Amino acid sequence: MGSDLQQVFSDIAKGKRIDKAAALSLLLNASPVELGFLAQERRFFHHPEPAVTYIIDRNINYTNICETLCAFCAFSRAESEEGAYSLSIEDLLQKVKETVELGGTGILLQGGHNPKLPFSYYLDMLSAIKRDFPDIHIHAFSPPEIVFFSNSFGMSVPEVLSKLREAGLQSLPGGGAEILTEKSRKRIAPKKATTEEWLGVMEEAHRLGIPSTATMMFGAGEGDDEIVEHLDRVRSLQDRTGGFTAFIPWTYQPGGRAKLKVEKASYTKYLKVLALSRIYLDNIKNIQASWLTQGLDIGQVALHFGANDLGSVMIEENVVRAAGCSHRTNEAELREVIATAGFAPKKRRTLYEGA
Ligand code: SF4
Repeated sequence: MGSDLQQVFSDIAKGKRIDKAAALSLLLNASPVELGFLAQERRFFHHPEPAVTYIIDRNINYTNICETLCAFCAFSRAESEEGAYSLSIEDLLQKVKETVELGGTGILLQGGHNPKLPFSYYLDMLSAIKRDFPDIHIHAFSPPEIVFFSNSFGMSVPEVLSKLREAGLQSLPGGGAEILTEKSRKRIAPKKATTEEWLGVMEEAHRLGIPSTATMMFGAGEGDDEIVEHLDRVRSLQDRTGGFTAFIPWTYQPGGRAKLKVEKASYTKYLKVLALSRIYLDNIKNIQASWLTQGLDIGQVALHFGANDLGSVMIEENVVRAAGCSHRTNEAELREVIATAGFAPKKRRTLYEGA
């Protein structure tokens, strides 16, 4: 091991914050086992108890019609295509009802950028859910959707967020971040919100008291330096606002109708990036493992690479499934996976409160 890397290990062990150069060196030169060890030290600093949390919720995609045409998307459709849909309020309420009946405490509501839907559609969805299911947490609309609403309806981002919150929005999912560098975004999602727009929406949301998660989709042809840059942008924003409740990295699923053809990121790369996320993001308490994209076995291993949360039992998921990723689970199985890894399973709600 080089002396530079040894110095980084010693800094991390002392609880010191690492910089971008050190993070890149870790990603390039440290072994997965070394990274996992260091990440677990940080994980137990934030969460001294050996518990791993999970949630029961449902991803509801209100429309798959989208004009943004991201190269990695296997989910969206043109309006004229077979299978294109927009949910009615009745369909949506039925899905929320099923979620509640199955013990779900929240819904994650996201959709395509559909130019035909009026702003009232979104407000009506939120207020109808809150009217019929006041206890269900509404985690909805990633930053690119908020930017799309702002541009389509001629309102500022704070105005959009305030109106959605008034109607029932409680927190924002961190989707649509992919990699927060313009180099990658221009290549894989040139029509989507820019890095500054994604971060700007999150900053406004946090300023208004709306918490959010942050995500990263990697393995889509970006450089390792871009992964580090992404983590740095998220950490800097969190330093200013403290509004991120969790960070969720996952890998691009190159399947289905997605145009972007690259080799799928390895499990080793996933675990290394997960561990690095835990080490670098010293100001974000919760790091979530993605069993949905990696499978339950790797999800379980991820609990020894810095993750303290195994995400959702996920009653419904459409986006990753459209790319051919078919992992499924149920609550008993998820609890078993957590227990077998040596942790106590603990059900939570969307904002990481106890269920
Ligand atoms: S990823 Fe989202 S914004 Fe991009 S094409 Fe798919 S649905 Fe549209």
